[in-house]
Amino acid sequence: MAAFIGAASIASAQKKKALFVIIDGVSRDVLDSVPTPSLHAIAKEGALLNAYQGGERNEFNQTPTISAPGYTNVLTGVWYHKHNVPDNAIKAINYNYPTIFRLFKDQYPNRKTAVFSSWQDNRTKLIGEGLPQTANIKMDFHFDGLELDTVKYPHDKARKFMSDIDQAVTDEAARVISQDAPDLSWVYLEFTDDMGHMYGDSEQYREAVKLADARIGQLWEAIKQRKEKYKEDWLIVVTTDHGRDAKTGRNHGGQSDRERASWIVTNAKPVNRYATEAKEISVVDILPTIARFLDIKLAAEQQKELDGVPLIGKVSVVKPMAVKTDDKIKLSWTPVNNEGKVKVLLSTSNNYKQTGVHDKYKLIGEVPVKDGKFDIDLSREVSSNFYKIALEGKYNTVNRWIIKKDK
Ligand SMILES: [Zn+2]
Repeated sequence: MAAFIGAASIASAQKKKALFVIIDGVSRDVLDSVPTPSLHAIAKEGALLNAYQGGERNEFNQTPTISAPGYTNVLTGVWYHKHNVPDNAIKAINYNYPTIFRLFKDQYPNRKTAVFSSWQDNRTKLIGEGLPQTANIKMDFHFDGLELDTVKYPHDKARKFMSDIDQAVTDEAARVISQDAPDLSWVYLEFTDDMGHMYGDSEQYREAVKLADARIGQLWEAIKQRKEKYKEDWLIVVTTDHGRDAKTGRNHGGQSDRERASWIVTNAKPVNRYATEAKEISVVDILPTIARFLDIKLAAEQQKELDGVPLIGKVSVVKPMAVKTDDKIKLSWTPVNNEGKVKVLLSTSNNYKQTGVHDKYKLIGEVPVKDGKFDIDLSREVSSNFYKIALEGKYNTVNRWIIKKDK
């Protein structure tokens, strides 16, 4: 009898599954200039949101609008000042900031993860499969490395091979989603960026975007079938790693509006007030959104490090700012939900970044979230060249660093 009740309760709890997709180098304006019926079908269920890449311009968290940093922002929910991926060489990534895959596996070791990718480094370096620094994380499904097979995919000058690889990656991802439905999957498609680099804003680039959209349609179709057949609850999030330069569309890496102009398409319904009302959501919001959807419980110490804010469910506080004067740190934030208070926490160490060990915070004050501001009186604190501030609300936590600049 007990077994029967157990089975019934499992059947009634809908299985939650998530897929995120990164298509490479497609700025927001391009989505309006090219027919993208698949992305629009997904957005019709949920939302199409402008979201920036690149960290904050001229701030301590500014991040190059380059591919690997862009993917890492999504994977870790933090910017370059933490993950330390400034370019595609990925020489000294800081694994102390876990990817969404590690957070998921730590909590659900028996649930399944997958990566389908036109670039093998995404698994071996950014996810860090099999490395001691990532506790030897192992993906349950992977399909990648086709770009290294120059016999099957000879590298032609027009780079048609890259479109073929994207298609093979998509076919395999759709097949595995249909058959095995991994609980958390990442699909990465590259061809759009290749055409951007070769031709700039051009017919070739726009055709590549159309192809990417059709491939997303294939993935979405597989998900819809799973939803229908197995009554699973699926989240899909699609985004891009950077935009393109305004002049030619061939380049990226800088901090111009168009290079920073990423976006998020999701079927999440409803997205929250922060997502719809804030003018400045960003790609680091994807990790906390997926975490919330998949019921990944983040430890308080991890929440203090995340740079993103969930786009679903309740949120207390966003947009933390900190300005240091001679004797004060003037804090401000935007309240989203006025329930409860904000705890103002201060640390002068950065152990989390250096060694992965948690930092000690001092509780400086506790004020209603609706106040939107608080001054830290520095005459009562230890003098330091570095301050890490966490604002802990009822529903989420945000943070800010103050780094003394060399004069
Ligand atoms: Zn890229």
